[in-house]
Amino acid sequence: MLNFQFYNPTRIIFGKETVSELSQQLPAQAKVLILYGGESAVKNGTIDEVKKALGEREYFEFGGIEPNPHYETLLKAVALVKQHQIDFLLAVGGGSVIDGTKFVSLATCYEGDPWEILSRKKVPVTALPIGTVLTLPATGSEMNCRGVVTRAETKEKLSFRTPLVYPQFSILDPTKTYTLPERQLANGIVDSFMHTLEQYLTYPIDAKVPDYFAEGVLRTLIEIAPDVLSQPDNYEARANFMWAATVALNGFLATGVPEDWTTHRIGHELTALYGIDHARTLAIILPALLEVKKEAKRGKLLQYAKRVWDITEGSDEQKVDLAIQKTCEFFESVGIKTHFSDYGLGREVIEPILQQMEKHGQINLGEHQDITLSTSRQILEKAL
Ligand code: NAP
Ligand code: FE
Repeated sequence: MLNFQFYNPTRIIFGKETVSELSQQLPAQAKVLILYGGESAVKNGTIDEVKKALGEREYFEFGGIEPNPHYETLLKAVALVKQHQIDFLLAVGGGSVIDGTKFVSLATCYEGDPWEILSRKKVPVTALPIGTVLTLPATGSEMNCRGVVTRAETKEKLSFRTPLVYPQFSILDPTKTYTLPERQLANGIVDSFMHTLEQYLTYPIDAKVPDYFAEGVLRTLIEIAPDVLSQPDNYEARANFMWAATVALNGFLATGVPEDWTTHRIGHELTALYGIDHARTLAIILPALLEVKKEAKRGKLLQYAKRVWDITEGSDEQKVDLAIQKTCEFFESVGIKTHFSDYGLGREVIEPILQQMEKHGQINLGEHQDITLSTSRQILEKAL
């Protein structure tokens, strides 16, 4: 097992009707900004429920945070926070709203140009406290210290990571997912599956706890996916989905193991340039990456084949190939395609993606830092 530190201060409040717990979690005198996305949280009544739970506290609202939250939009929220001297940020939504809220919390306290937080990975020494009410299981943002922000003007999607932005608490009420459309459910299943694989499908070392844990998350997602998609009010399926998505990226699966993240890094460029949903970009890149890195990842792919897909027959080569095939079939079974051509894109994407990767320093990726731009080119070729 590798050396590691584990720290996660986020309190999870999980279950039916837990939005009412908000009041216990917020300081009595907090001046709160409620941040949300389009209309979904307003239409399904979550925003009203949140306002009620705030009691007598003074609050302001900032709606309109778009999927893949825009830097430009978030700066407007920063101005509002400063204008009213708001001291607590409450995100109500999915990963985009939560990531956006994290960025607002950092940018409000940052003295220089806030773009530096993303482009030069500079972080302020303080941030405003955050809480979340999650409406979309997918990113794990509700219990991690990561965020991703897009600058629409320059089509750049960049990430940040700092312990300052761990939410103080996150409310996970599975009934809040009942209104999710199939497209977002499928995205959430694939994104959380991929978060697990980024930390699991690396070179094998003897780290049994995170490995068995990751396999549990993967098997859970495979098992519940059909019910999640076909039964909007199946509480148990939604509850298992919600917790699996959180656990997939709350830091626990990374304890003592190497991490890859190449698929996400390439995927971000794809969303920024071509507007493809985050999870769909991952489904395009991963199978191609596994083909290219098959030898380096062989040991773990064999373990994955056996313990996640119950593949016991055939040569090692055949087992690995079947595991990759089953992964693609799983993505396709929830309606997510796995090649550029499925999205109307071809060879013309390769150069622009590689240029953006070079600009953003994405040149030594993977658990061995050996995925250079020429390896990324091979991956993109295979994904056509
Ligand atoms: P999202 O972009 O937050 O939301 C997608 C759509 O789902 C929005 O249109 C939203 O509508 C809708 N929606 C949310 N909850 C709903 C509900 N309960 N009922 C109906 N519609 C609902 O999706 P996401 O997948 O959670 O987040 C994606 C972003 O997170 C990307 O930018 C990705 O790069 C990033 N990400 C972050 C991390 C991390 O660790 N922080 C990890 C992976 C990915 P409204 O706008 O109307 O609410
Ligand atoms: Fe992701």
